[in-house]
Amino acid sequence: MDARRILETRLRAAGCVFAEEEAALLLAETDDPAELERMTQLRVDGLPLEHVLGWAEFYGRRYVVAPGVFVPRPRTEHLVDLAVARGGTTVLDLCCGSGAIGAAVAHELQAELYCAELDPVAVAVARQNVPRVFEGDLYDPLPRGLAFDLIVVIAPYVPTDEIDLLPHEARDFEPLLALDGGTDGLALVRRILAEAGDWLALDGALLTEVSEEQAPAVVELAETYGFAATVDETVVTVTRTGSPSPLP
Ligand code: GLN
Repeated sequence: MDARRILETRLRAAGCVFAEEEAALLLAETDDPAELERMTQLRVDGLPLEHVLGWAEFYGRRYVVAPGVFVPRPRTEHLVDLAVARGGTTVLDLCCGSGAIGAAVAHELQAELYCAELDPVAVAVARQNVPRVFEGDLYDPLPRGLAFDLIVVIAPYVPTDEIDLLPHEARDFEPLLALDGGTDGLALVRRILAEAGDWLALDGALLTEVSEEQAPAVVELAETYGFAATVDETVVTVTRTGSPSPLP
């Protein structure tokens, strides 16, 4: 058997469903057999492939990721599609993690991007992917007086009781801070919507991803805070209602 087949067999035995693709990616990553062995062992031990490689592909481009940082999910590309379709020249990515979502939207629109993130580990990674990453809780670290055409946010939204049901790679290798959304999973979304009016341009939109079951509750929450909201798959798009808002 050649080296590639041996690698595939090891990965498959370790439970990697896409062993063939993963073997090809690992082989493409290094010419050094010792480094290949190190990476293979990490993967066999269960580290997510993206953490082993040090990058994740999202919306057709590669972004730096590292152990301890949430890996952008392919499903979230739908949120990017919707944000890009709306358009805008200023984008805020809240709870940005690696920054990949904001980066994808800003890249497509050639827009100016601001990112905010609480976890210093993610902040360090995001700074390798995007400019202007502010460290702190939600909107707190942002410079005052900005109004964004688009706010994109994947807050942690898994209800605390359901963390145990997540796939092993998420549960064991991604930070709880990026997943745990409190009792109903919406603790962060609630806080984000409560302050969104201070940060959205008058015709701006906030797009957030939650689970399908949570989407109706998020629409209701948005309405409570005086917004209008629509659901497309698992993305909730929040805009101001027709009522005039006081200018800052
Ligand atoms: N269920 C989502 C996932 O693992 C959770 C995402 C999140 O809470 N940030 O993809």
